[in-house]
Amino acid sequence: QPVLAVVGRPNVGKSTLVNRIIGRREAVVQDKPGVTRDRVAYDALWSGRRFTVVDTGGWDPKAEGLQASVTEQAELAMMTADAVLLVVDATVGATTTDEAAARVLRRSKKPVLLAANKVDDDRLLADTAALWSLGLGEPHPVSALHGRSSGDLLDAVLHALPTTPREVLGESRGPRRVALVGKPNVGKSSLLNRLTGETRAVVDAAAGTTVDPVDSLVDLDGETWRFVDTAGLRKRVKTASGMEYYASLRTRAAIEAAEVAIVLLDASEPISEQDLRVLTMVVDAGRACVLAFNKWDLVDEDRRHQLTRELDRGLVRLPWAERINVSALTGRSVRKLAPALRTALTSWDQRVPTGHLNSWLADLVAATPPPVRSGKQPKVLFATQAQTRPPTLVLFTSGFLEAGYRRFIERRFREEFGFTGSPVRISVRVRE
Ligand code: GDP
Repeated sequence: QPVLAVVGRPNVGKSTLVNRIIGRREAVVQDKPGVTRDRVAYDALWSGRRFTVVDTGGWDPKAEGLQASVTEQAELAMMTADAVLLVVDATVGATTTDEAAARVLRRSKKPVLLAANKVDDDRLLADTAALWSLGLGEPHPVSALHGRSSGDLLDAVLHALPTTPREVLGESRGPRRVALVGKPNVGKSSLLNRLTGETRAVVDAAAGTTVDPVDSLVDLDGETWRFVDTAGLRKRVKTASGMEYYASLRTRAAIEAAEVAIVLLDASEPISEQDLRVLTMVVDAGRACVLAFNKWDLVDEDRRHQLTRELDRGLVRLPWAERINVSALTGRSVRKLAPALRTALTSWDQRVPTGHLNSWLADLVAATPPPVRSGKQPKVLFATQAQTRPPTLVLFTSGFLEAGYRRFIERRFREEFGFTGSPVRISVRVRE
């Protein structure tokens, strides 16, 4: 979701305006210089659109002097946000600090809006007009305290923010889509037969027409699921060695078409390169995942110990996936698949609110700051979960974060918020 950064001197009513934008009724945060606040980013919803509001006051850049600090805020805002809102106090007029910030913002290629705050009644509208001098276009008169005209300002904000591209998969309608994948002979068709008994023709409930006959609708645990591209499984096509490339393409396509994958592994055999390739496809496609170890009826004590060792080495990329030991032959634990699919999809759809995310992150970074690189301490400014399906965090930083530190953040993020069964992506936006 797009990011709006709010910039301004202390005491112009920036925090009151942020509270107004995010619809929060809490007591106004003290807007004194040097007061560090634990949260800087919040979710806002206006006219059905979501965006993130960042209060640059919380960044507390330790620059010398007030003026430097506000221009620093403005510069950071330009780097990290999709649009910037400069707040000035209409009752005071444009100060040299406001002018310095405006000078910085005029260079911005991103949209900049100007809010003239504390316009509590019409007599102050003349003061608002004087703010055209800042060269940021039309000043929007508001009273953050009383809420006056804040709706008009938000309309202008929405207009300035880029519209987010539609999510690739969109909201899920109808049965959730599952890919049942794994190398040849792990037992995919056996498991599908076990799950379905007889396969049903796929009928699109809405249109009442038969669609996608390659899929199977399967009732599991009181819910209907769409197992994508199972036609080949049902017909029990034996894949000749020359067909392997084709099979791999088909696996990839099934994963892409699905929301969650059941990756089937043969527990009675060592984990192979081919297994790892399938797992990599699922992770790279950003799909939720459940690991099912089939043929568990063949697994004895020795093999179990050996498998544990293989898992430590082989599954480093997805320690977050639930593992279920099943047997398509005996039906063992097959009933556990549906709850695991549900958990994975819940994680895949989950979104951590920006405020919550940032208060957690502020504590984490304060306790364990990123490692210093070439004499500089990178700062983590704020984060937002920009996407779900898969969950994607965007961290805004003042410097490069090492891969190890990103993994550390992911690990702690999972400890705090869960996300079992879903990959979590972390992207870092570094200001130049
Ligand atoms: P696919 O190629 O992945 O669809 O695998 P199949 O379903 O054709 O199964 C391959 C072979 O493994 C067949 O001989 C199955 O009978 C056997 N098989 C599948 N699941 C199990 C299981 O849970 N236990 C045992 N012992 N054999 C299984």
